[in-house]
Amino acid sequence: MKYTVLTLFPEIIRAFFGLSILGRAVEEGIVEYQTVNIRDFAWDKHHSCDDAPYGGGPGMLMKPEPLGRALEFAGVRPKDDPQRAGKRSVYLSPSGRPFTQTEAERFSAEPELVLLCGRYEGIDQRIIERYIDEEISIGDYVLSSGETAALVVIDATYRLAERVIAPESLAEESFSGGLLEYPQYTRPEMYGILPVPEVLLSGHHENIRRWRLEKRLEKTLALRPDLIRRGVEQGLFDREICALLEKLKLERD
Ligand code: SAM
Repeated sequence: MKYTVLTLFPEIIRAFFGLSILGRAVEEGIVEYQTVNIRDFAWDKHHSCDDAPYGGGPGMLMKPEPLGRALEFAGVRPKDDPQRAGKRSVYLSPSGRPFTQTEAERFSAEPELVLLCGRYEGIDQRIIERYIDEEISIGDYVLSSGETAALVVIDATYRLAERVIAPESLAEESFSGGLLEYPQYTRPEMYGILPVPEVLLSGHHENIRRWRLEKRLEKTLALRPDLIRRGVEQGLFDREICALLEKLKLERD
């Protein structure tokens, strides 16, 4: 999978791609990336990428010409161009669709994502209309720039690519199957007055599986009842989960 990130601060993006599991995935050729410095496409004397908004108002906006040239350099053609190829162009924006694990799974199936990071008060609307397939928000708050949002999208998607992380590690993670993850423990067996739950020391695989499933349900019911409601509506839960949910709800009532 390939990421092309259009940014005024390529060094932020490059630092991230060099580290940890992502750095290894890049070394092994599982993940590729390219940064495009938008300023390289500002051809006036001062390489300016921003200007005041029409109609007045505070702050500056990213100008369309450098952005358009940078996008075309990255291989994103205008939407009305019959040659437009299958690269998904995404603008990170507070107005975008909320980014969730479902979106991460969808993006991880793309061969290439082109991520456009805004700065200042954002970008000229005509760039969105002409080039951008979708706007994505990482949450209902305003960041000062799109780089951190792009890193969130990259981090949540590359780890789903084949050969990056063992499939069994992903299988019971939070949000898989519509539930949060079960609580986890490591050595020592006793931490202060807090012991590790006995069942985890028993070596009884079936009891451990069932305990973990019950804990996932308890935790999701307590912390994210919206996920349970959605799971029920979408028919995500099997018979065992439905029965356990009934039991937990009865106990709570
Ligand atoms: N004036 C814009 C507004 O009110 O919607 C906010 C612009 S923000 C200061 C600058 C850039 O940060 C945006 O162009 C976008 O790329 C990025 N950004 C800010 N918040 C974001 C969020 N929640 N999700 C994704 N990107 C975000």
